[in-house]
Amino acid sequence: MNPKVWKQLTPFYFYILLTLVLGGAALMSETRSLISILLLCFTGALTWGLIEYGLHRLVFHFEAKSEKGREFVYGMHLSHHADPKNMDDLFASLRLSLPLALGYCLLTWLVTGSWQAMVYLFIGLTAGYFYYEFMHYQAHHRSPRLRLFRYLKKYHLLHHHQTSALHFGVTSPVFDYLFGTFQSTDQNQTVR
Ligand SMILES: [Zn+2]
Ligand SMILES: [Zn+2]
Repeated sequence: MNPKVWKQLTPFYFYILLTLVLGGAALMSETRSLISILLLCFTGALTWGLIEYGLHRLVFHFEAKSEKGREFVYGMHLSHHADPKNMDDLFASLRLSLPLALGYCLLTWLVTGSWQAMVYLFIGLTAGYFYYEFMHYQAHHRSPRLRLFRYLKKYHLLHHHQTSALHFGVTSPVFDYLFGTFQSTDQNQTVR
């Protein structure tokens, strides 16, 4: 693989290592049941879907008034709309994800009052985030064989090429459906 691509994968090595260390420490220090651990991980993955949707709709497509604001939004996401195949803008950088990860951990620690619960939620969140990056890569650079991934690819390409005010979900259309930005892909047969 191209050395540049290895470098772009830095966030993946970082979060794999981090979740392994934190997950190991959490498992060794308490006696929560397996079911409740899995439920916390699942909840974490669900919160990823909400964060993915909120960031994409409210931050990445924000119509900033100031020059600095417009530059920020362009750097975060609109550069990807300008050139969807460019790998440089495909994966989220640590600069973007790390403050979000820290904020998420602090908030969940405060809410649950348990650092172990925070870790399991964070592991679910990270799994959702990895699935997002995988699905986004599939949408722009692969021809997925799985029907679900083919549907999500079409769904995301509609956001790019026809309906940038709709279809914000990349990993699922669930939050578009809940917040009124869903539209059936059958109404747009032309996108490949
Ligand atoms: Zn977008
Ligand atoms: Zn895209």
